[in-house]
Amino acid sequence: MANYYIKVGIKTDGSPVLEHYTDYTLVKNMLIGDGFHWQRSLEVCLPGEVSLYKSSEQSEIIGSDATEADRNITLINRLPLETYLECVVGSEMNPSASIEFLKAHAVISRSWALGKVLGAHPCNDSGYKNTSDCLIGWDDTAGHHGFDVCSDDHCQRYQGLQPITPIALQAIRDTAGEVLTVADGSLVDARFSKCCGGRTEVFSTCWQSRSVSCLESFDDPWCDLSGLSADRRRKLLSSILKDYDLVTEGYGYRWQNEISKTTVRENLWRRFGRDVGEILRLESLHRGPSGRIDLLRIHGTRGTLDLGKELWIRRLLSSSHLYSSAVDIEDLGSAFRLTGRGWGHGVGLCQIGAANMAVHGYNYRNILSFYYPGAVITSI
Ligand SMILES: [Zn+2]
Ligand SMILES: [Zn+2]
Repeated sequence: MANYYIKVGIKTDGSPVLEHYTDYTLVKNMLIGDGFHWQRSLEVCLPGEVSLYKSSEQSEIIGSDATEADRNITLINRLPLETYLECVVGSEMNPSASIEFLKAHAVISRSWALGKVLGAHPCNDSGYKNTSDCLIGWDDTAGHHGFDVCSDDHCQRYQGLQPITPIALQAIRDTAGEVLTVADGSLVDARFSKCCGGRTEVFSTCWQSRSVSCLESFDDPWCDLSGLSADRRRKLLSSILKDYDLVTEGYGYRWQNEISKTTVRENLWRRFGRDVGEILRLESLHRGPSGRIDLLRIHGTRGTLDLGKELWIRRLLSSSHLYSSAVDIEDLGSAFRLTGRGWGHGVGLCQIGAANMAVHGYNYRNILSFYYPGAVITSI
């Protein structure tokens, strides 16, 4: 296998605080979960080269919080792809999860990251709309300049050397060089999210309006843990999720939330620079096959705005990020009740479902062929 290197953009909580050692750089204030409900600052040890980034090269992402966040990225960490993957597998999930689940994650994390290094899945903002009554966009890696991936949930969670455990190392080494490809040999754009909510979503609900090989919508019975006793469910989830993910209500499969109309108006102004007056009602204009809303009409006393796609809708309907846009919206007068399914965009592998498959004895090949129909495992 060729020696690939990857450049990771690291956000810090304020100016970076660094200490340099022989084998690693200690970063005392790495920011994780930026803008999400689990946001916090971590002390991490980064292998490879660490250098400062010129933030003036950043470009803007229209109407999104990510604009501010991206301006704060000041570090770039360049390291071998396989070392990066060892860190990612332990950072994304609890390294005490089943080895077959971690192997499945190793293959998709490698496929996705290599796709970024090689530019195999170019992303751009074609399809963005920004008119007086319509704002449609998404945050892909088009806004990442000078590095391949960021270190946060936006790309893949990378938290340096500490999360590496013997089982995470084994998962990477057992699958060394293995990636997912389409039958013609091209890399699968192997997306994944925390919990699809019972049906997976298609690419175009979240990003550009095109269909992508091996990313289809189908029923997923594996993330429904309602058949398990509370004790077994807690044990399963704590063997899969990081501590800070366990606080998520109902592990994201089913949940309920409320947001006041005043907060919706404030979010629309603060995050998107738009105002339609007092919020009157919300109307779902289009949903993807999993039920995720990708076009929402906001009716206000001064007009309407059509907002998409799913991530921007999640940002509108929460003070951080709503778990998912697969919501039924009920008007309570001064607020909306949101009854939702799923956690994340729901495209590709469902992490909770995949981990549950592994617990039931399926191996990583079974898991990958279930979540990426038509894909094959290829050694590079
Ligand atoms: Zn990113
Ligand atoms: Zn699922």
